[in-house]
Amino acid sequence: MSHQTICVLGSGTMGHGIGQVFAAASFPVVIYDINEQVLQLAKTRIHTNLKLMVEENYISEIEIDRIESNLTYSTDLIHAVSGASLIIEAVPEIIELKKELYEKLEFIIGENTIVASNTSTYSIERLAEGVSFADRMLVVHFFNPAHLVRLVEVVPSKQTKAEVIEQVIEFLSACGKNAVRLQKDIPGFIANRLQAAVVREAMYLLEQGIADARAIDSVIADGPGMRWAFDGPIQIADFGGLDIWEKVTGNLFPELDARTTAPSSISEKVQSNKLGAKSGEGFYQY
Ligand code: NAD
Repeated sequence: MSHQTICVLGSGTMGHGIGQVFAAASFPVVIYDINEQVLQLAKTRIHTNLKLMVEENYISEIEIDRIESNLTYSTDLIHAVSGASLIIEAVPEIIELKKELYEKLEFIIGENTIVASNTSTYSIERLAEGVSFADRMLVVHFFNPAHLVRLVEVVPSKQTKAEVIEQVIEFLSACGKNAVRLQKDIPGFIANRLQAAVVREAMYLLEQGIADARAIDSVIADGPGMRWAFDGPIQIADFGGLDIWEKVTGNLFPELDARTTAPSSISEKVQSNKLGAKSGEGFYQY
């Protein structure tokens, strides 16, 4: 699949890194932006990223030439998208701008070209509304810096064809990414919702004078953060015991909102004696 061309629209914070990811995985990549100056900046940023990766022993010096030789830059939209199997749109988070670009793409992309938006906040249903290639459209949400963070969230709309989702996951896997597919669209997707839940509680603790910012941050770094590199919150609940987590999630936060009962997903497991690792089954099998 590495002979298939990838086109990235927008070469800013995300676009240049996304282009670098595909070029490193040996895909020919065309990066498009509105003027030569911004493209030159993207080229320089990629070179700096690669130099740093050599210094940190992520890649060897000879890799720089190989990766850069897979990259071309263009201010000509028709030229940039021609022959592309996958287009990744990474223009600013302004819906009118994105929609305007999709309108132009309707007339110039191939009939099998997939269009993926790197949007952080817009629903795929809204982005795909009225778009003629909606069944070949989806969200691929990379994280900054795109060339280092493994996670990419993949969010199809109700119209996205199954084979399009599969192909995009294949493309991302070929780049060494962990492509996590969402079954349904939700604002913030998964990662930002999980992060926001923690940040919101950290701010509450700070505002209540429970501890200062540095102390709260150190609790994460030296406590749960050490485990989060290996286990997600659901598996941590399994390991701790779901009967315990039923109490924890049921007893905490009554001052914040009305959710004073444990999540039903935990209580149902506890009722069927699925207590996590200690009973051989919880959300996972042990
Ligand atoms: P950015 O402003 O750094 O880059 C946007 C680029 O798009 C600029 O180089 C700009 O010149 C170019 N551009 C503007 N109009 C264009 C057009 N009509 N056609 C082509 N290029 C055009 O923005 P960014 O931070 O890279 O964000 C891009 C997208 O990625 C947004 O949808 C954003 O929400 C999303 N995103 C950002 C982050 C982040 O941390 N910055 C993370 C995940 C997703």
